[in-house]
This record gives sequence, structure tokens and C-alpha cells, in this order.
Amino acid sequence: KVRFAGVTKRFGDHTVLDGLDLAVAPGERVTLIGPSGSGKTTILRLLMTLERVTDGVIHLDGEPFSHMPSGRGGALVPADERHLAPRRRRIGMVFQQFNLFPHMSVLANVMEAPRHVLGLGADEAAARARDLLGLVGLDDKEDAHPTRLSGGQQQRVAIARALAMRPDLLLLDEVTSALDPELVAEVLDVLRDVAAGTDITMLCVTHEMGFAREVSDRILMFDRGRVLESGPSADLLDAPEHERTRAFLRSIG
Ligand code: ATP
Repeated sequence: KVRFAGVTKRFGDHTVLDGLDLAVAPGERVTLIGPSGSGKTTILRLLMTLERVTDGVIHLDGEPFSHMPSGRGGALVPADERHLAPRRRRIGMVFQQFNLFPHMSVLANVMEAPRHVLGLGADEAAARARDLLGLVGLDDKEDAHPTRLSGGQQQRVAIARALAMRPDLLLLDEVTSALDPELVAEVLDVLRDVAAGTDITMLCVTHEMGFAREVSDRILMFDRGRVLESGPSADLLDAPEHERTRAFLRSIG
């Protein structure tokens, strides 16, 4: 379970998240929507400890999991890698830009973290990677280099790579936004299969409302660093309470 308790994130004078409280249950699928700059990506980056909180605490399974502010002066405790690394391993992230290792084959991309972070042997890591390449429909591409693949195929490799660590929590940050429109469906289909075939918790930033409606239990609408409204996906999409939510949905519609 993930819980944000009073999480504030500032960049200089700019408050990006403002005392955010948010709980995500194990196995829940939550979609974050809202205008550009409303703090959605920052939430995912805080979870990956790519950023640190300014105030408040993020809990993972009841344990604090963030670079915590301490003391009255607000000085930050230095990141304790020994403490954070094992937890971060339980989180997989897929980015808008696929961020594959360009000099490695598809298979090597998917094997890399299980080999070097989990210490799996080559055969076991390869078997795991091949299973996942099957899941994303790319078993015939294991020797290809990422640059030879379409954007949709690259993103499917990135999904397989994230799943190779068998994370409990999968973070998806606008994973179809950089794709040509005709490639979006194949990536969303893979994610639908992942959602249907696993009990992995998913936190997803997307503008694909059909996908959000189908896959997510709950949608949260962000506005200026706060949750403006939230609810079961169909309710929020069909009958948003706030004019800002209506305007946002029209703008992406
Ligand atoms: P988008 O849909 O554009 O990604 P978002 O809701 O995901 O929007 P964030 O990416 O979380 O928003 O960014 C929120 C705000 O924080 C933006 O105004 C952004 O400019 C600012 N911001 C993010 N990272 C940094 C940083 N490293 N330094 C300064 N400002 C930052």
C-alpha cells in the first residue's frame, strides 16, 4: 500500500504539491489527470525517489519511504541508499520517452536489472525476459536493437523491462504521449493485459480516458498541486463535479 501524508514539494518558490494526502490500496489501479504542471509527474518521481519531498512523508506498506525532512530548520536527511534501494526495486516505472539502453539488444535490455540488481543468473534472467517479451508480443525481436523498432515496440520493451523486476507497483507516466497515433493502441492493449493478468498496483498518468475508464478503479483530478476531485473512473468521467474538471476533459477530449 502507498500512502502520501501531507506531502509538499516545492521547487524554489513554486509549490508543486501542497500537503497531498493520498492512499493507494494493494492491487488498486489509479489514474492521475489534470492540466500540465499540476504535479502528476512529480508524484511518480517522488515515489521513485528521483525527487525528495519538501515536507510530509511517503509510506510504502506502512514504512516511511522518502527522503524525509527533519529538524526545525527543515534540513533534509541525506538519502540513505541502503534503506531506499530495496524498496525502490519493488517499483517499476515506464516513462514517456522509452529510455531503453540503445547499445543493447531487446533481450539484454529486459535482462539487465534482474541480472545486475537482483543477481539472477544469465539463464534465469533470459528465461524471465523471454516470458515477458512473449507477454508484450515481441518474442521475435529479442536480438533486435531498440533503434530498429517502432516507438510502440520500444515502449512494449520498456514495459517488459519494468515488469522483469516483478514490482508490486507500476508507475506509468504518459507512456503513449510520444507515440504516433497509430501506435498507441498496441501499447494500451499490452497494459490492459498486464492489468487483467496480474494484481500489480498501478499508478498511471495518461490522457487516454478510454483506457483509464476501462483499467482504473479510480481517477484523481489534480489542479495546482491538490486533488480537486476523485471518484470511481466512470463516475468522474461521466459526471465530474467541478467545472475545471469538465474543462480539462473537454480539452483532451
Ligand atoms: P505535465 O503533464 O506537463 O507533465 P504534471 O502535472 O506532470 O504536468 P509536473 O511535471 O509534476 O506536472 O510538474 C509540476 C511543476 O513543477 C511544473 O511547473 C514544472 O515546471 C515544475 N518542475 C518539475 N520539475 C522541476 C525541477 N526539477 N525544477 C524546477 N521546477 C520543476
